[in-house]
Order: sequence, then structure tokens, then C-alpha cells
Amino acid sequence: MKHVHDALFIGGEWTAPSTDATITVLSASTEEAIGQVPEAGPADVDKAVAAARAAIRDPQGWAHWEPSARADVLDRFAGVMAERSSEFAQLVSAQNGMPIASAAIQAETGYPAGLLQMYGGIIREQPVEETRQGAFGGNVVVRRDPVGVVAAIVPWNYPQTLLFFKLAPALAAGCSIVIKPSPETVLDTFLLAEVLKDLGLPPGVVSIVPGGRDLGAYLVKHPGVDKVAFTGSTVAGRAIASACAELLRPVTLELGGKSAAIILADADVAGSVEGLFVATMMNNGQTCFLGTRVLAPRSRYAEVVDVLTDMASGAVVGDSLDTGTAIGPMASSAHRARVEGYIAKGKAEGGRVTTGGGRPNGRDVGWFVEPTIFADVDNSATISREEIFGPVLSVIPYADEDDAVAIANDSDFGLGGTIWTTDTDRGMSVARRVETGTIGVNTYLPDPVAPFGGVKASGIGRELGPEALGNYQQFKTIYRTA
Ligand code: NAD
Repeated sequence: MKHVHDALFIGGEWTAPSTDATITVLSASTEEAIGQVPEAGPADVDKAVAAARAAIRDPQGWAHWEPSARADVLDRFAGVMAERSSEFAQLVSAQNGMPIASAAIQAETGYPAGLLQMYGGIIREQPVEETRQGAFGGNVVVRRDPVGVVAAIVPWNYPQTLLFFKLAPALAAGCSIVIKPSPETVLDTFLLAEVLKDLGLPPGVVSIVPGGRDLGAYLVKHPGVDKVAFTGSTVAGRAIASACAELLRPVTLELGGKSAAIILADADVAGSVEGLFVATMMNNGQTCFLGTRVLAPRSRYAEVVDVLTDMASGAVVGDSLDTGTAIGPMASSAHRARVEGYIAKGKAEGGRVTTGGGRPNGRDVGWFVEPTIFADVDNSATISREEIFGPVLSVIPYADEDDAVAIANDSDFGLGGTIWTTDTDRGMSVARRVETGTIGVNTYLPDPVAPFGGVKASGIGRELGPEALGNYQQFKTIYRTA
């Protein structure tokens, strides 16, 4: 095995784990073991949280540095992440099956460095204290303090990017952070630990505790944690929200989705295939914001089904590390079983499979499923209501624009979505009517400069954009005489 680690990165040091338990990581494409790391136990979480608290309380510590000094470190950090981006892309792709072509462009490599620079730039400009003339005489000082110790819990689908959605603003704000990665994708966090060790952050500012959901639940409820930042499934999000409600602990939740890709009657469907692929099947369908309900006007229904069928059947399925691969395997055997369960359900409920529906020929090793298109699907079908998280689309017919908007909004979720049209203004007016946190007109990719997140069961709060720095800051007001 290539990636074997025997120590945990806690409090800025490599430390011996408290238990003998280990996590073995398998390649999604070859099913071979590619790495092994220690699994953290509750005692390791205790140690990480204690170190994080000590860092916050240290009067000379990270939380109290001049923002420009923190920004200098973030710039250096960004430089190293950019330099080593292909190592991260390779590791992520091998673990979770993300096609290396998308891992290497933006998906897992563009965001980390970009976010560190962006939040570093913001704190250089943002005053820590602002003095206001009091309404009753005297002055009022409004401070932005770091929120404290952050617990960051991350899923396996974009392990680095979704981590940096939290890590970059948290560090910029002066917080300490304890990271709990997914067991499926722990190896990239050990590479990150190497980078952090060399970076020379003060001790305790970042710790990494690899483990499963029980360890995550333990961290969420830890008395030393001040804020929880979670990305993952809606089921886990509800459990975390309920724990945080009891503790009155601030939490941001980025959860699942079942977004709509609305093809308007004037769309150039054939000419939009490249964009449609990204917006509906990126990362083998293992992406929260995808428009997996494709809404097609009745007048052009057959044509849309044909274009999507060609798109899916023509997508090259293969080893995630091959640069020509468009669709790699599912991240784990258990996850493939879940996706296949949905395909069976779609068939049982009367959906018509126009391509796919099984496992690709000649791919007996690796957790592959064929890109699959279901036609003649109603919005009430299970495959239209629930998140599948695989390369499986439902094509749903609609009568007119009002009907399309009504179907798009008839969902428990509201995270992403797209409108496809040759008339951008028309697309914008439809986009404004869709109940969702983010949406694209003829394109979709979360842009770091703007808030990203969901409504309804897709979550609470926003990441990205200058707005998200506020997740990691709290105001403190000091009244004083003039
Ligand atoms: P998951 O919820 O099973 O796990 C996510 C992380 O949470 C893992 O680290 C896991 O160990 C941990 N965890 C699980 N249950 C927990 C609990 N009760 N308490 C604390 N920690 C817990 O999700 P997954 O299968 O790893 O990821 C796929 C899901 O993530 C999909 O539903 C997808 O839509 C969602 N997702 C959302 C976004 C977004 O930004 N909205 C982005 C990516 C993925």
C-alpha cells in the first residue's frame, strides 16, 4: 500500500492515536487497498478540541494576530496548495472515483487556493473594530471576534473543496478548527496535514480526526466546540441540527438536493450538451447541486430525451485516473448498491430506461454503474423525489413555463438548478421564480465570490462569498464614554 500513516495530526503535531483501530481506503476504480490511517477515538477528539481551545484563549494566539499577519499565512498556504494541486487531485480521484479531468480542473484544485486568497484579501480590508457615535451620547465599539472552536464535518464527494469552504473563512476569521473527514476519503487530509505542518501555524489551530459518524456525532456535541459546519446528507444534517438545537450551538448545514434543469422551449439543446453534462452528471452524479430532474417542454420532449440519451450513452466510463474518463465509479460498494436500488425502483415504478440501467460491460472490477436516463417519469416518482447521488436522470415533461416552475418547486429540496434557453433575459426571469439557493442560466458552477447553499431540506446557511466569513465571526459590542 502506498499511503500508510501511523500518527494523527492533532494540535499541530503528529501524535500517537489513542486506539489501535485503522481505516483502510480502497480505490473506487480497482477495489485495491491504497492506504491505511489510524482511526481517531473520542480521546483524540478531546485532545484536538483542548488544543483548539488553548489556541483561542492564548492572548498571543492566532485569534489575536493582526488580520494582515493571518492573511500572509493564508497566502503562503494558497501557494503550497496550488503547487501541490495535482497530488491532491490524484488522491481524491483514486479514492472516490471522481474523473481526474474534473478533479484537476477546478473541482478539487481550484477552490482551496482561491478561497484562501479570497478570504485573506477580505480580512486585510475589513476593520476588526468600528466605532460608532452612540445614540445616547458616548461611543459604541463594534468588534468582529472569531466564533471560537469550529467542528468541520465533510463528506467524500469533494473532500478538499468542501473542507476549504469551511477551513479558509474559519482561519481567516481567527478560529481554530477540528476537521472530521469521511472515512472513504481520509488520505487527502493526511497530505493536507503535511502541508499544514510545514506551514507552521500555531499549535492547536488545525487538527484532523479521521473517523465515522459516531466520531462525528461525538465532535458535534463536544462541550469545547463553539460552532459546527457540516456538509453531507439531509439525514445526518437533521441529526446534527437537532443536537445543535439542544446545545444552542450555531450550525451551518449544506445538505442534499434534487434540483431541476429546466429546458425552455427555445433552448439549443444539442448545442448545450457540454454544459448540460456538467450540470446534471458531474463527478459521476455524486454532486449535491446537480439538476437530476430534467424538465422538458412537451413540444420538444422526444428530442430532449434523444439528446440526453446520446449524452449518457456516449460518456466514456472508465478508471477515474484515466484522463479520458467522463464517468468514473461510485465512491463505494455500499453507495453503488444504493444507486442500483434507485434504478430498480425507477423501473418498478414504470420509468422507461432509454440508456444504461445496469453495470457497464467489461467493468467487473470497480463500483461502476452505467449513466442512465429515465424517460416518461412523473415528478411524484421516487427517483424524482429522492437524491440518488449517481449518474441517473429523470426526464419529466411539462406543459408551459408556469408548469415548469411549479414542477421545479414541487420538491423537498432547493439547492441548485439550471435554465437552458437562447434568451438569457427570459432565463433570468424563470430563474428568479425557482425556490432554490443557487441557480444557473446556461451554465452552473459554484462561484467562490457568491453565497452557496440551499433552502428547504437542502440546508441552513450559506458558504462561499464574503458573506460566509460571518459564519466564523461574532459581533461584540462595547459601550464606552467618548
Ligand atoms: P453523510 O451525511 O453520510 O456523511 C457526511 C459526513 O458526516 C461524513 O464525514 C460522516 O462520517 C459524517 N456523519 C454522518 N452522520 C453523522 C452524524 N449523525 N453526526 C456527525 N457526523 C456524521 O453524507 P455522504 O454520504 O458522505 O455525502 C453525500 C451527501 O452529502 C449527499 O446527500 C450530498 O447531497 C451531500 N452534499 C451536500 C453538499 C452541499 O453543499 N449542499 C455538497 C456535497 C455533498
